[in-house]
Amino acid sequence: MEASVEVREDLRGYRMEMLPADLRAHTISVSLLASNFCPTDRNVYVERVLRAGHQRTEEWPSIAGREIHSMLQLLHAFAQRSVKDFASAHRSLRNFDIRKTVMEFADDHIAEVCERLRADEKCYRRQINRLKVQLQQIASFEALAVAALLNYRIARTGMAARTLPQEMDTLFDFRAIEQQLHAGWLGLTEPVTPDFLYRRSVIGDIKTGQVDAGPGGLFELTCTAYAVAWERVYGEPIDWGVILHVSHSQRRNVPLYGESQIYRLDTKARIRLQLKLEHKLCLIRDGQDPGYPADRERCGGCVYETVCYPEGEEQ
Ligand code: SF4
Repeated sequence: MEASVEVREDLRGYRMEMLPADLRAHTISVSLLASNFCPTDRNVYVERVLRAGHQRTEEWPSIAGREIHSMLQLLHAFAQRSVKDFASAHRSLRNFDIRKTVMEFADDHIAEVCERLRADEKCYRRQINRLKVQLQQIASFEALAVAALLNYRIARTGMAARTLPQEMDTLFDFRAIEQQLHAGWLGLTEPVTPDFLYRRSVIGDIKTGQVDAGPGGLFELTCTAYAVAWERVYGEPIDWGVILHVSHSQRRNVPLYGESQIYRLDTKARIRLQLKLEHKLCLIRDGQDPGYPADRERCGGCVYETVCYPEGEEQ
């Protein structure tokens, strides 16, 4: 990420012009903006013009994805905090055991998640047990990674406890972002909430499930929207986007991050974001039905299928 990224200056969030008021009046969420499973974007028409929503109850993959997402954010925020607490309470590093501290925190959190999900009749015990294993794998992997890196530095430098937070900040210049960004000027529904910021130059999101990695795909659009919103609020350039993609395999005992992606948020990516915003916001403003995909098979299994084809009616 040391390579330079070309960005036309007027496409930086702090220089970008506001969208025209008639478009901004119909803000769209980042997830609806970036969605591209419907070839005609009829899902936008259904959600925002018909205001019909989809009729399925929330499915297990999105419930599990939300728990994985929140676990990763909590773990990193907790590790940062506990290193600071240790350094302010101890002069020696003799009893420093970040792996154990993080695992204790994770075990409590996982127990709370499982108890909550067991009380929800939509969730099956088998699914919850599987998720429990996945959360334990994530916790164990992350705790071990943090401990290994910090212990390596301690072993190499012989540092004192008071310098631990500084070392942690250097090794993990990675912040779970809690603040919510103002982006109504861009036509985005507020708040816009990226998941993390790395070295104040990389913005990112945690995803599970389907991979949509190409130019103009869900992942790139999401990172670009976050970057532009961050630039506007903080006046700092963000050139890179990262999607931390988490999945699991029954044949592995660690989480799989192999589908994670890095994006250059360059001029082309920003133009793709602007075009997508204009296209979807025009669709909402004009309220015109964009029609159905030529290939009916594209609709099979879509969450909007029962809305687009009521009672199996063909269009
Ligand atoms: S059912 Fe078909 S037309 Fe409707 S939103 Fe899904 S993909 Fe688009």
